[in-house]
Amino acid sequence: MIVVKFGGTSVGDAAAIDRAAAIVRGRMPGRPLVVVSAMSGATNALIAISEQASKGHLVGAVRSVEVLREKHLQALADLVPDETVVREVGAELSASFDDLARLAEALSVLGYLTARSQDAIAAQGELLSSQLVVAAFRARDIPAEFVDARQVMITNDRYGRAEPQVDAIAERARERFLPILREGRIPVTGGFIGATSEGVTTTLGRGGSDYSASLFGAALQADAIEIWTDVDGMLTADPRVVPDAKLIERIRFDEASELASFGAKVLHPSTITPAVRRGIPVYVYNSRRPEGAGTLITSDAPRRPVSAIAAKPSTTVVKLRSARMLLAPGFLRTVFDIFERHRTSIDVIATSEVSISVTLDDAENLEALLVDLRALGDVSVDRGRGIVSVVGAGLTDGSNAMARAFAALGDARVHMASVSATGINLTLVLDADQVTPAMQRLHDAFFGGAPGGAAGSAS
Ligand code: ADP
Ligand code: ASP
Ligand code: MG
Repeated sequence: MIVVKFGGTSVGDAAAIDRAAAIVRGRMPGRPLVVVSAMSGATNALIAISEQASKGHLVGAVRSVEVLREKHLQALADLVPDETVVREVGAELSASFDDLARLAEALSVLGYLTARSQDAIAAQGELLSSQLVVAAFRARDIPAEFVDARQVMITNDRYGRAEPQVDAIAERARERFLPILREGRIPVTGGFIGATSEGVTTTLGRGGSDYSASLFGAALQADAIEIWTDVDGMLTADPRVVPDAKLIERIRFDEASELASFGAKVLHPSTITPAVRRGIPVYVYNSRRPEGAGTLITSDAPRRPVSAIAAKPSTTVVKLRSARMLLAPGFLRTVFDIFERHRTSIDVIATSEVSISVTLDDAENLEALLVDLRALGDVSVDRGRGIVSVVGAGLTDGSNAMARAFAALGDARVHMASVSATGINLTLVLDADQVTPAMQRLHDAFFGGAPGGAAGSAS
């Protein structure tokens, strides 16, 4: 079997869902399990609704619920010719919107928002889109069957960023998906959402539908995982920042994973891990151009000095200086324990004899973290920084890639630089306003057609 995942824009309106149906029809011999995101913009709208409502702006929140209702019902009417079906499915979808409006009302009375209630609201996007997609597929004679992802994606209770429980998921996936697949039907489920073992709704974090697809694929030993999105595949840079970014037809698991972690939003950073563990190839395709070559991510793709450039437009740098660090074994462990305690993961790290600088992926628990770090030495925080990463498995294989990277940066100020021992990533912390120009210059140096560029070979 294969997993076929459609992102938000790939189910964003009736025309997109129609294209998705055609893609799935072509995949039927491979026995697909279909995973869908919320319609594009829906998750943002739902999060805004929960925030507005809890701040007491109920009228605005309810108005947004109605806009979303209209968007889903319109798509349904455009996709399904049979009016009885439109009425029946429309009534089901509408009941969810009524619930949503009631939830918003409850939040406005409560006057505060918990991560748990936000998940309950955000999860509606995938529940609605998956039901809509099932109706559209059936209207096209594709034997689709809705599966509520919360019955399969069992997670812990870290609301907003729940961690999947792999063994429970494997068991549930076999129970819920396999019988449907065996009968030659197509399970359709929502990405991004899950539930605790007690049945409370959770989400995997923004962009988490890719991760769902990969977890389901690993659970069922899929032959392939296909991520259908709005660009031709993984590109040499984000095409929104570098319009002439080029398609990477084959890329290694470790490079794709690194790119995702350092800002290439085309894949959720955790997507690759379950696939690697089971050796399942991951493909990225453009749902608007299904005939394109796409990207194949595997362990044995060619090893290039530089495969792509990624960036995170903003990050927080924390610097700790401490004389106690000098020749003191165990000091770094004390520091890392503090980060672990505050559930804060580190992106980039650089150390000297008496100082350590790190960048934080998520500064949510920063204040509490700083209190504990100050007990170890002088601490300072730099906001307004960004990260640019040059990723390539052969970065340190003796090519001149490093020298070229630094030359391309010109006079941009580098606050931190780090190269992993496996030589897969050169990561640079710059002033936030330097991130875009640096990315463009680096891209030009490695992939541009200009003299000195190395289009295609990136040597
Ligand atoms: P989906 O809704 O299908 O999950 P996303 O918006 O999450 O789509 O991810 C696709 C977007 O990722 C693209 O539109 C593109 O702007 C962005 N992106 C960032 N870096 C890259 C890259 N290296 N290759 C391809 N796309 C990238
Ligand atoms: N709908 C969710 C989001 O917008 C998950 C996803 O699209 O992957 O973050
Ligand atoms: Mg995405």
